[in-house]
Amino acid sequence: MKRLSLALAGAASVAFLVGTSVAAPPPPQPVPDGPTYVYRVPAPLGQKAQDLLARGFDVLEQRDGDDLFVLGTQDVHRRLADVGFAGSVDQVMSPARFAPGTRGTGVNETYYGGYRTIKAHYAHLDQTGWRYPRLATVVDYGDSWRKTQGAGGYDLKAICITRRTPGDCRLTPTARKPRFLVSAQVHAREITTGDLAWRWIDHLTTGYGRDPEVTALLDTTEVWVIPIGNPDGVQIVQSGGDTPKLQRKNANHTNGPRHCPTTQDPNAQAGIDLNRNLSAQWGDNGTSSDPCSQVYRGPKADSEVETRALERLFRSLYPDKRAPGDTAPADPDTRGMVVTMHSALNVVLLPWGYTTTPSPNDGPLRAMARDMAQLAGPGWEYGQPGELLYTAGGSIDDWVYGELGVPHYTWEIGNWEGDCAGFLPAYSCQDGHWAKVKPMLTYAARKAANPYGGA
Ligand SMILES: [Zn+2]
Repeated sequence: MKRLSLALAGAASVAFLVGTSVAAPPPPQPVPDGPTYVYRVPAPLGQKAQDLLARGFDVLEQRDGDDLFVLGTQDVHRRLADVGFAGSVDQVMSPARFAPGTRGTGVNETYYGGYRTIKAHYAHLDQTGWRYPRLATVVDYGDSWRKTQGAGGYDLKAICITRRTPGDCRLTPTARKPRFLVSAQVHAREITTGDLAWRWIDHLTTGYGRDPEVTALLDTTEVWVIPIGNPDGVQIVQSGGDTPKLQRKNANHTNGPRHCPTTQDPNAQAGIDLNRNLSAQWGDNGTSSDPCSQVYRGPKADSEVETRALERLFRSLYPDKRAPGDTAPADPDTRGMVVTMHSALNVVLLPWGYTTTPSPNDGPLRAMARDMAQLAGPGWEYGQPGELLYTAGGSIDDWVYGELGVPHYTWEIGNWEGDCAGFLPAYSCQDGHWAKVKPMLTYAARKAANPYGGA
């Protein structure tokens, strides 16, 4: 509990987003520097859970039996009651208690006790590229929203790692080798995931030629890693230094107030949830039309540059192996595998995400999810989002599987209780997370060759 209260200490200071737009922002409303609460809210799977999401509360990616969890100020208790939810205080977070700041430079630039900044992540990609020219290829696959606005921002970057032979790591779906892609920090505040992506890259490059498992994998498979899927959002998170801000979404504030936080809800944020913006079942359950909601889906499907760039990348890496509609299974000889890492829970989620109806490839998808959960260790569950949390439209999961037939998994990594709980665990917790996730990544990468068992 102690760790969680420390870990989420940044919540109260999430109020004002850092931006460099030319338009003068409206004067922000004062936000009390009070504690932040996690409320336990009875919301069984189904209508009640979807209702809670639709109301714009900051619903965490966590469930305990019939209960979901909502992050917010003292006032959120009343707001829950106003709309018929009986929230009780589960945790109390202390206000921010550390001075912000980063340490180190280049690949060693860190914040919050060891987490690498975006600058460090991108320097790491470049360094990996020149240190391991036979293995690594850095790919720029688009621009973040702020970059498209001339307001700072970042390139969107991936790295392809394989024992490179002619034709490998090209942006064409007719690749010789099967492809496994894993992405991190699409939800910016889920900082565990970016660190795991870093470790996975190093595990592969330093292991090639030494570790037989890694060598065999890279001889036969292209491994793609997106360490920071939402760099604008992560820039907001790391701007808090030792009290990281809890930005989940991207930085595009043009669809609503530039400063969402109010005295009623300091945790509300501008931006679009990049895991609700894709064209697969866009606007369905588990999304919001409120620009300040944590699950704001955007003004239309694929409205965001980050989303469109990601879809373009997927289309250039994987051929379409599934007929349109919800009932056609993917071709048995489909190759490839995609994993999006989130936090903080212990579950493996499989498609469909927008409905509890099983997908036409449910058998093999569920069997692989079971294997992944077993590799992670005790306490991990697996299933469709609607079986374990809530349903959600517009997700990366349903787009990758629905459009291309390629298996997609969401891994919710971490804990919600104990010393390493929450979105912002102490950096020392990452050794433990890595020990669980490394075998899952290895398994998923191997499965890319023949995921449905039909080749
Ligand atoms: Zn997430």
